[in-house]
Amino acid sequence: MKTALINKSDIDQCIDLLSQADYRVIAPRLQPRLDGPDGVDIHVFQEVKPGDVHSIGEGLSTTGIKEFLFAKHEPLFAYEKSGKKVNITPVSHDFPRTVIMGVRPCDAASSISLNAVFSDSNVGYDDTLFTKRLEQTSFVTYSCTDPDASCFCTSVGLGPDSDKGSDLHMTEIGDGRIHLEVKTEKGAALAEILGSLLQGEGDQSARDQAGAEAQKKISRIRNANPIRAWLDDTTNFEDEMWQRLGEKCLGCGACTFECPTCHCFDMVDEDRGGKGYRVKFWDSCQFDHFTLHASGHNPRDWQFKRYRNRFSCKFKIYEEKFEAQGCVGCGRCIRGCPVNLDITEYMAEVAHKAAIPAAMQTDPSYE
Ligand code: SF4
Ligand code: SF4
Ligand code: SF4
Repeated sequence: MKTALINKSDIDQCIDLLSQADYRVIAPRLQPRLDGPDGVDIHVFQEVKPGDVHSIGEGLSTTGIKEFLFAKHEPLFAYEKSGKKVNITPVSHDFPRTVIMGVRPCDAASSISLNAVFSDSNVGYDDTLFTKRLEQTSFVTYSCTDPDASCFCTSVGLGPDSDKGSDLHMTEIGDGRIHLEVKTEKGAALAEILGSLLQGEGDQSARDQAGAEAQKKISRIRNANPIRAWLDDTTNFEDEMWQRLGEKCLGCGACTFECPTCHCFDMVDEDRGGKGYRVKFWDSCQFDHFTLHASGHNPRDWQFKRYRNRFSCKFKIYEEKFEAQGCVGCGRCIRGCPVNLDITEYMAEVAHKAAIPAAMQTDPSYE
């Protein structure tokens, strides 16, 4: 594995060089979410051009990178009805060669989870709208130095300096320097382009120390080990916990839209007088109509059942169906929930119900 040092002040030049090499560059930017006195600025990933202000390495992004791999809304084909016939016209999709810079480790790991859902590796069908985008995308990850109170990546086998899913990994090591690691062939191609900015070899011990210091700042720590076995026990499907904790859920879907691993979608015909587009768009298992049958029966007829599904998806269904990690501990569903429903509260309840000794409930390594 090749390592090098790069100055933090040269990140802007990285964007210049990658743009000149015909990459579309995506990076976090600080953007206003609301106008007026209640306005707040949030970090969101957007396309950046040379000279644009970005916020790589600053703060945590609200929305993550999912939309650049799995579009929020996109047409699949156009149609026009003519008598009893329907004429179908293909629509074109473009898959520009893209670098996403400043990706946090939890988000990079989520791309592997999404790939398990959309590629034929597990399900026997390749959704090329996803897989072609992933193929064309490289991730320049950036270790976190300031996890916030909702981050819990260390409870699910990751960490603020994890490199899972990374092509090129950057870690700030002080004095305005960054330790850079080439993780894949895609990363090697990027390093080649950035060659004029790279200096010598990296500083592995400073990188490890920076990672250890960031880990110490994570305050939300749970033991996720008993969850899968507890969910596999079907008697717990009717446990009192689901209704007690889940009754305050509003079903707004914010947690699913902000979650980097949530992948549910729907397809409808957007029809304008007999012609239109069949479109695919993000959906949410937290909406009451998500499982509503045409008969009127709804197997998830209460909101707590919908939340039970979401929790089970993260810690059982994802692993069972896709052999992938369902939750990367990014904390977005905690930050974004309007009623403060907290997935780690469920994790703590399960650890308690699974009789994990109290002192070990905040030790992710205790099994
Ligand atoms: S379930 Fe919550 S913490 Fe886990 S990956 Fe999704 S948004 Fe992040
Ligand atoms: S959950 Fe971990 S990797 Fe993700 S933003 Fe927080 S500290 Fe960084
Ligand atoms: S858990 Fe919170 S964010 Fe998710 S649907 Fe319920 S109220 Fe909305």
